[in-house]
Amino acid sequence: MGKLEEILDYNKKFVENQRYTEFTTTKFPDKRLVVISCMDTRLVELLPHAMNVKNGDVKIIKTAGAIVSHPFGAVMRSILVAIYELQAEEVIVVGHYDCGMSAINPTHFLEKVRERGVSADSLHLLKSAGINLEKWLRGFDNVTDAVKESVDMILNHPLLPPSVPIHGLIIDPSTGKLDVVINGYEKK
Ligand SMILES: [Zn+2]
Repeated sequence: MGKLEEILDYNKKFVENQRYTEFTTTKFPDKRLVVISCMDTRLVELLPHAMNVKNGDVKIIKTAGAIVSHPFGAVMRSILVAIYELQAEEVIVVGHYDCGMSAINPTHFLEKVRERGVSADSLHLLKSAGINLEKWLRGFDNVTDAVKESVDMILNHPLLPPSVPIHGLIIDPSTGKLDVVINGYEKK
């Protein structure tokens, strides 16, 4: 059975057995929080448990490395939508130790892209269009700096209401322990 069939098969029973009832909530986050974190598999359940958040409590935005890299990209837009349309009042960026984005080497990455069948022409075309793939694919050397940069990106956004605290944390992907990098209340 393919992965999709497996999921759909399970889903049919999930709905039939009304397993959804324990997750019933609204689209507004009860804790009035937005959490930006990494897509790392170790954090799927660990992060919400370690932060004591359950379904309905927070908006969670996942991105590789918990990085907010562009002021007018989808992540920043999601943060603003959560604040203006969905009653979020605070934002927490949660990076983590041992993040895959700290090990990304753009040169090796692009070699793999070639190996997987993407033509050199496509890469040249992007380059000639002014797209710097090396810069775009680059991760970070230090998670503390990465969290600070993401917090700064949000904090300095021209559309962010000045009253919204932006916090920066790092989670241990084994123990769930949180370290504070930036306490957003102190910055206000
Ligand atoms: Zn990560």
